Amino acid sequence: MQTSFTLAQLADPHVAESEKILRACVHCGFCTATCPTYVLDGNELDSPRGRIYLIKDMLENDRPATQEVALHIDRCLSCLACMTTCPSGVHYMHLVDHARAHIERTYRRPAHQRLLRAALARLLPFPRRFRLVLTAALAGKPFAGFAGAIGFKQLAAMLQLAPAHLPHRPLAPQTFKAVGARKGRVALLAGCVNDVLAPQINAAAIRVLTRLGIDVVVADGSGCCGSLVHHMGREGDALGQARANIDAWTALGTIDAVVVTTSGCGTTVKDYGFMLRSDSTYAAKAAKVAGLTRDITEYLATLSLEPAQSGPGLVVAYHSACSLQHGQRVTRQPKELLGKLGFAVKDVPDGHLCCGSAGTYNILQPDIARRLRERKVRTIEELRPDVIAAGNIGCMTQIAAGTKLPAVHTIELIDWATGGPCPPALREHAPQAALRPNAAAS
Ligand code: SF4
Ligand code: SF4
Repeated sequence: MQTSFTLAQLADPHVAESEKILRACVHCGFCTATCPTYVLDGNELDSPRGRIYLIKDMLENDRPATQEVALHIDRCLSCLACMTTCPSGVHYMHLVDHARAHIERTYRRPAHQRLLRAALARLLPFPRRFRLVLTAALAGKPFAGFAGAIGFKQLAAMLQLAPAHLPHRPLAPQTFKAVGARKGRVALLAGCVNDVLAPQINAAAIRVLTRLGIDVVVADGSGCCGSLVHHMGREGDALGQARANIDAWTALGTIDAVVVTTSGCGTTVKDYGFMLRSDSTYAAKAAKVAGLTRDITEYLATLSLEPAQSGPGLVVAYHSACSLQHGQRVTRQPKELLGKLGFAVKDVPDGHLCCGSAGTYNILQPDIARRLRERKVRTIEELRPDVIAAGNIGCMTQIAAGTKLPAVHTIELIDWATGGPCPPALREHAPQAALRPNAAAS
C-alpha cells in the first residue's frame, strides 16, 4: 500500500512503525474471511482491510479520530486472526495498538462511555479493588436480565459474567518450593482478573510445576500485565504496569522463564520488548523479560510430564484462545499435553473465530460478543464433549455463560491427570468424575 507521510511525521517512531506496517498491506482481502466482525455482518469497515484504511487515513492526515473511526476500531476484538491469515506479514496488532492510543488521545467519547472505560481501567487491573466490585456484583447478579431489558446492556453483561460465588483473595508474593531436587526456577504472573475469579488455575500450575521440580516465585511488585488498559488505548497506564512487572522479575535474578496462565496476558508480556523499545532505561530489560515469557503449556512441553495413572479418558473440546493461537502461535502444545495424559481432544470447528471475550470487549461490545459466544457454543456443543478446555480465563468465563458444559483451564486438566484434584467446574458438573480422577481410559 502506498503511503504519503511527511518526513516530519516519520520522525515520530510510532508513526514510522505504523507506516512500515501499512506499506506491507497489499489490499488482497484474504484477512476478511477470518475476521469475526466481518464474518458476522459483512461490513468492509468492520474487516481488517477496512480498519487498516481508516487508520491510514487518520494517521496520514494527522487527524483527530472521528466517531466513525472510533466505532469500527472499538468493534475490533484484537483477536489477531487477521495476522495468522495475512500472506504479507502485516503486523496488525502493533498498528491497531497505535490507533487505539491515538483515539484515546484525540477523541472525546460520550460521557457514559468515558465513565465505564475509566471505571474498568481503575478497577479490573487491581485485584483488591476488583474483588470488592465482584462482591457487589454478586448481589446484583439476579437483576442482569432486568438491566438488559431496560437498556443497560453493558451493566447486564458485567452482571452476567460475574461469578456466582464470593471472589477469592489474590495470591500473595511468595515462593512455592520444588518437590524433591530442584530442576528449575520460574516466575509466575499471578495476574489480576484471573487470580480473583479463578484461583484454581494458578494453584494447578503451581502444583504441576513444583511436582516437576520447579521453584515457582510470585514476585513482590508484579501485578496486572497491562493488557486490559493497553487495549483501551491507555498507553501510559499500560507501560507503567509493564515496568512494574519488569522491575519485579528482574529483581529475582536468574530465572528460567516467566510463566503465564492467561494467554491474553502472555501475548502482552511477550510484546514488552516492542512496547518499551524507545525507553532507554527499560528497553533491554523489557526485551529480556519478553524473551523469557512462556505460556504454561509451552513451558510444560519442555519438561517430562507423565500421567499419575491411566488417563481420565474424557472427551475435551479444546478451545484455542485467540491470544494463544494467533497472538503467540502456541497451538500444538496444549493438545499434545492433554492427549499424552489420556484425554480425547477434539478441535472446535471454525476454531480460528473468537468467542467474543477479548479482555473487556464482552462488556464494552455486549451485542457482538453475545453473537460470537452463541456461535462458538453451538460449534462446541455439536462435538458432545465432557468438558471444554481453554488457556484463558476470559474465554472460560465467556463460553461458560452460554452453556451448561463445564469450562476449565487446560492446566487444571493437566494437574488432575498428574495427581492433582479434579477441576472444580468438572466436579460440580459431574460428581462421578471427581470420584474417579484417574479411571481407566475408555
Ligand atoms: S491479508 Fe494482509 S495484505 Fe491482504 S488486505 Fe489483509 S492485511 Fe492487507
Ligand atoms: S484483530 Fe480480529 S476483529 Fe480485529 S480486524 Fe483482525 S481479525 Fe478482525
